[in-house]
Amino acid sequence: MPRGFIDLHTHSTASDGTDTPAQLIHKAARAGLRAVALTDHDTLDGLAEAEAEAIRHGIRFIRGCEFAVNDDEGELHLLGLWMPEPSPRMREALREMQEHRRRRNETMLARLEASGLVITMEEVTALTGRESVGRPHMARAMVARGYVKSVAEAFGKYLGDGAPAFVPRALLSPEEGIALLRDEGAVSVLAHPFLHKDMSVRRLDALLARLAAWGLHALEAYHSVRTARHIRDCLDLAEKHGLGVSGGSDYHGGAKPGITLGAGRGGMRIPLPVLERLEAFRERIIIKAVRHLSK
Ligand code: AMP
Ligand code: ZN
Ligand code: FE
Ligand code: FE
Repeated sequence: MPRGFIDLHTHSTASDGTDTPAQLIHKAARAGLRAVALTDHDTLDGLAEAEAEAIRHGIRFIRGCEFAVNDDEGELHLLGLWMPEPSPRMREALREMQEHRRRRNETMLARLEASGLVITMEEVTALTGRESVGRPHMARAMVARGYVKSVAEAFGKYLGDGAPAFVPRALLSPEEGIALLRDEGAVSVLAHPFLHKDMSVRRLDALLARLAAWGLHALEAYHSVRTARHIRDCLDLAEKHGLGVSGGSDYHGGAKPGITLGAGRGGMRIPLPVLERLEAFRERIIIKAVRHLSK
């Protein structure tokens, strides 16, 4: 009997996915997954809804989120797993991220208008109804208006890094992002390391040495865009740097067609023991933190 599979990296309509949190959990249960983490960008908004649905389906749920941070190597993504109810500091950090997104979205819409593409903020936010709004929603609004044929075209011509309407985001440093998650009591995970352009095993090795020194807990070894070779390399590097191992599809529903919950682009399977080992790792972190506090 297989013991079941898990997915610890997913996005809902709380950020730029297309399934509501409840729909996402429903699909995960139907796909036979045993555990799912919801990791929306810059928000904890979808977690309560997902958690309630997970209880109904008897599937394990891990509260998560995804933050982008700005490293010398470029943008990196950190997942927080086992996110508690937000502390005042986390609440403030999330509020700042959302406020920054709002201002950036306005600037990007003004730049689109300068290129002759008129889209209102209402059109964009109507596509989500939630708080974490960004470029994928703008791209969908552009498709709805008939300005472009596809989201890919919207990014290619207007929204992608370096394109006319692109505005970079001011991000936390990796050190700040890791500390924010650690102080919250969450497990921090470096997401999809090999999605990063120009990433090699040697560069990742050096990067992990830095991130581990700043307190990073784990590495996402299993991901949709990952070959068996990449997984092996990640497992080796996690072991070398004393990091835990995580895995998830980065499912976004219709926003990333071709990526299925728990299965990625098809063959990916993340066995339940990955979660069990990460939980054991988490318990050791907590015990260490408690010892540290009681000193
Ligand atoms: P934002 O957080 O507003 O900067 O938007 C980033 C999101 O846009 C990422 O999470 C990706 O899912 C999506 N994205 C980035 N580049 C592209 C692209 N070239 N085509 C489609 N989606 C993209
Ligand atoms: Zn996303
Ligand atoms: Fe990411
Ligand atoms: Fe993601």
